[in-house]
Amino acid sequence: MVDRGKFLAAAERPEEQAAAGVPAGSAMPGPLLLMGAPGAGKGTQAKKIMAVWRMPQIWTGGILRDNRARGTDLGRQAKQVMDEGKLVPDDLVNRMVAERLAAPDVARGYILDGYPRTLGQARWLDELLAGQGAPGGALPVIAVSLAVGYNQLLRRVTGRRICPTCQRTYNVYLQPPKADTVCDVDGALLAQRADDAEEVFHERMRTYEILTAPVLEHYRQSGRLVEVNGDRSVSGVSAEILHAVEELRRQRNS
Ligand code: AMP
Repeated sequence: MVDRGKFLAAAERPEEQAAAGVPAGSAMPGPLLLMGAPGAGKGTQAKKIMAVWRMPQIWTGGILRDNRARGTDLGRQAKQVMDEGKLVPDDLVNRMVAERLAAPDVARGYILDGYPRTLGQARWLDELLAGQGAPGGALPVIAVSLAVGYNQLLRRVTGRRICPTCQRTYNVYLQPPKADTVCDVDGALLAQRADDAEEVFHERMRTYEILTAPVLEHYRQSGRLVEVNGDRSVSGVSAEILHAVEELRRQRNS
């Protein structure tokens, strides 16, 4: 029987919970994994869930990018594979995640955005969480898969532009800036991530289908997978995730 009491601190944000349709006093969801192909909306949904359940988002792609920007050894090792749409070796990413999960802010739960992406990473995480004093508390991990069709993913990824100054994100097809190519807020010239180019997108999709799709099966087989249609409004998808996670927690605890 899981002690849910210590996760009740989530109720400290009742307005956001109510807006998201989460029952008042809803318990913290413990460790959540956000999975999906490039452009599925993992980052957007991670931010929504963070606000409702007050858990940190751990974005492995973002940590890698930050290491590249700072010119660390890890960043230098990761650069080429990232630019080619391939995956950074498991041991490097696992070590990075282990370091991040040692920080005190994960004690009540966290959202892993874009990890695990291989069966090796998933098994490594299972072992880490089975260990004594596992980060993220007593609740079992839940994997959330966001499903979006190929053509929609292509438009979301190849149309994505980012303001290098304020980090605001646009999409030239779906959510364009007011004036072509510049940020609405500060007028900076918008940039495209190197790995959002169309040929790299196709490679990232191949990598996803070969290496990451089996990870969904891993969680499905152990009853820890929630599948959500990600091809809807942002708030519609968030509401579905929150309800589905609550429901799975309830079933597993009953
Ligand atoms: P993302 O921003 O999540 O799309 O990640 C960008 C890139 O970072 C990916 O295409 C990979 O090259 C690398 N990356 C992020 N997370 C992982 C992971 N869990 N395992 C291996 N490589 C990763």
